[in-house]
Amino acid sequence: MEQDILRLAREVALAERILVITGAGLSADSGLPTYRGLGGLYNGLTPEGMPIERVLSGPMLREKPALCWKYLAELGKACLNAQPNAGHFAIAELQRRKPECWVLTQNIDGYHRLAGCVAERLIEIHGELAPLFCQSCGREDRELEAHLQRPLPPLCPQCGGILRPPVVLFEEMLPEKAIADLHQQLEQGFDLLLLVGTTASFPYIREPVQQTRWRGGFTAEINPAFTDLSQSVVLHLPGRALDVLPKLMSHIFRH
Ligand SMILES: [Zn+2]
Repeated sequence: MEQDILRLAREVALAERILVITGAGLSADSGLPTYRGLGGLYNGLTPEGMPIERVLSGPMLREKPALCWKYLAELGKACLNAQPNAGHFAIAELQRRKPECWVLTQNIDGYHRLAGCVAERLIEIHGELAPLFCQSCGREDRELEAHLQRPLPPLCPQCGGILRPPVVLFEEMLPEKAIADLHQQLEQGFDLLLLVGTTASFPYIREPVQQTRWRGGFTAEINPAFTDLSQSVVLHLPGRALDVLPKLMSHIFRH
């Protein structure tokens, strides 16, 4: 694999327009459970006898906010109990050194920001778990950790409305700004696309891969497992982001 890392390093060094797409595998290296979208924390049914896709849905947050929040709280605790890893930090460094490097993430843990990613070039396609906001008055609330110690759902200290995270629940639309940013950047095209720990191949992952190939750009994937997209990329590096990305960076920016 060392030769493949060197090859990817050469390609990254030459590229200007870069898109890094990250998924659950990257957060799994931080010790977070892998989940598909918001789901796979639980396989099958919750103790209430419902699929996780139903309890973590927009309609459930409206109808039974305490039940929806029971599972949002588990996600919240998992994220608060872990932290960004060497893979996140390597991606943030790449962004700082490559002024046209964008990051598109499926992850909601906010670790790219914590690792120092350039916020203007970060697209969080499934939103983020914090800060919470009030569904009634819109007030922002930065006390996620404190709320998780209290009865759920968390309430707005200003108006008593129910708080929620700016995350995309099942049956909710992807954020308009994220989609608009992505399309605007795709129109300009990318020289290089790197998939990191993504599992599910949503259209917003497949399309950039196909488009980058079609335009003659380089495509690569870092993932210990083979995925739906492994055969669509030029180079598949079967390793963990945590190990491969820092090595990659050391080859590119040696001086
Ligand atoms: Zn309020």
